Amino acid sequence: MPLLVKDRLLGVIEVVNRKDGLPFVRDDQNLLASFAAQAAVAIENARLYTMTDQALASRVEELSVMQRIDRDLNASLESGRAMRITLEWALRQSGAEAGFLGLVREDGLELKEVYGYAEELQPFERALVSLEQYKFAQVIESGAPRQIAAEDGNGPFFLKDAKQQVVLPIRRETTTMGLLVLENRTDEQRMSEEMINFLARLSDRASIAISNAQLYDEVQQANDAKSDFVSFVSHELKNPMTSIKGYTELLAAGAVGPITDPQKNFLNTIRSNVERMTILVSDLNDVSKIEAGRLRFDFATVDIKDVVEEVLRSLRRMLEEKDQEISVELPAELPAAWADKGRLVQIVTNFISNSCKYTPEGGKLIVSAEASENQWDPAGAKQVLHFWVKDNGIGISEEDQKKIFTKFFRSEDPKTREAPGTGLGLNITKSLVEAQGGQIWFESVFREGTTFHFTIPIAE
Ligand code: ADP
Repeated sequence: MPLLVKDRLLGVIEVVNRKDGLPFVRDDQNLLASFAAQAAVAIENARLYTMTDQALASRVEELSVMQRIDRDLNASLESGRAMRITLEWALRQSGAEAGFLGLVREDGLELKEVYGYAEELQPFERALVSLEQYKFAQVIESGAPRQIAAEDGNGPFFLKDAKQQVVLPIRRETTTMGLLVLENRTDEQRMSEEMINFLARLSDRASIAISNAQLYDEVQQANDAKSDFVSFVSHELKNPMTSIKGYTELLAAGAVGPITDPQKNFLNTIRSNVERMTILVSDLNDVSKIEAGRLRFDFATVDIKDVVEEVLRSLRRMLEEKDQEISVELPAELPAAWADKGRLVQIVTNFISNSCKYTPEGGKLIVSAEASENQWDPAGAKQVLHFWVKDNGIGISEEDQKKIFTKFFRSEDPKTREAPGTGLGLNITKSLVEAQGGQIWFESVFREGTTFHFTIPIAE
């Protein structure tokens, strides 16, 4: 009895010899026919079911592999790493013996990552791979993968004694930016269409990660160039500014003849502007160094009292001009900090000068410090010096509090704008504190006052 599904023959059922020894009759044939019809449907259903099940399982498997690949690819923004991971996954999934990944240049292919070759690729360490000789031009043009075998008279290959090669374009939008080449010495098993499709999807993923990383490299380079430029300019500006300042002071001191009061006033304006400019230039220099990761710290034991004294000495005139009272409330015994002294002076200067600038005349500033368990940062040093400056100044509105450490941020509050500033100080200070293993924070009530805090590890 045939097993038929629609007009397709699945098989036959053959029954031989009735058990009771009697001949088969028409009723038996009818019974077998209806059984066969149902059995054929059941078998076909089961077959279809297994097929979808397998297809689904392999799709799920591929998706989970892709997910792992994506995670690997996007873990960093280094283009070299993205290319290495792409090649590794392609080799691992396809079982190919050797392979390489190259970027398409105007007159050839530049090898970037290679695996599994002995000396075959040495000539291409310094030269590009010819697109004509290896017939890559067509793959680049069409953007479609290509599989070739030595058996069919194709070549040339890179791997010695290779029998098979698969070339996959790495495409970004409509241009082929690179090629992934896989080679094998066996020719028993050509790569299945499914595998090639999988590798094509892998290349698409890779192209996004690689071009992101390349863009990032370019931005990084541009940023480095900007930092170099700022460092250069600020260095070049230093000498002329020192000279302007020096001659202004000489003139004001009457070194070349008596000067009138209005002249003295003008000279004072010049001097204070040059001072502002000096601060601006050194702030810009610091910011660019921080961004380029080029800030260096000379760590040593530092006595915070010395630091406060030094800062107060340099800010004395500024504090006196605003007739502010400043009390220094440091405990008699304070352990030394482990920090860069110059940078610590810079941090404390920023705190005190901000408090002075943003507190009206006659206001009050309190400078304090204590040695403490590090309750602010469980991952940091166990013992820290906690330092803070409290003022009863103009305060910071809740809206502004969120942006206070942002580069170039200055409050729109007209009272803030009465004092000069660049909005770089706290941004730099935060980097300086954190780079030395500390934390920075503040609390403030608008029109009542502000307290800024930082911590720094204690020298062991
Ligand atoms: P700058 O003082 O040059 O503007 P900073 O980065 O040091 O830059 O400070 C950023 C902003 O934070 C200031 O413009 C001001 O609005 C606010 N600010 C900082 N310290 C205080 C303070 N003690 N009291 C009130 N506002 C402050």
